[in-house]
Amino acid sequence: MAPPNNWSTLRRLLRTDPCDAGCGETVELLHVFVDLAAIDPAQAARHYPGISAHLRACGSCALDFEGLLAQLHASGCRSPRTRERLNPRPLGS
Ligand SMILES: [Zn+2]
Repeated sequence: MAPPNNWSTLRRLLRTDPCDAGCGETVELLHVFVDLAAIDPAQAARHYPGISAHLRACGSCALDFEGLLAQLHASGCRSPRTRERLNPRPLGS
């Protein structure tokens, strides 16, 4: 990691939540987090505290999250995985 090049970068790094998942893990699981957050934001934060902490700290990832959430709400539907979770098929079908 390159050394911080100014004081605001250093202050931001020092304020980072220790459970912050970072950009890599957040991007990897953002679609799952968005599906859950669309149903129950508090539950999403409880299940993925590292991603929740990261979204509070990283403007870029927070914008991605807000965009995906807005798209989900605008489409009026949920992803196939979320629909399956909310309306599971009966066993044996
Ligand atoms: Zn990020």
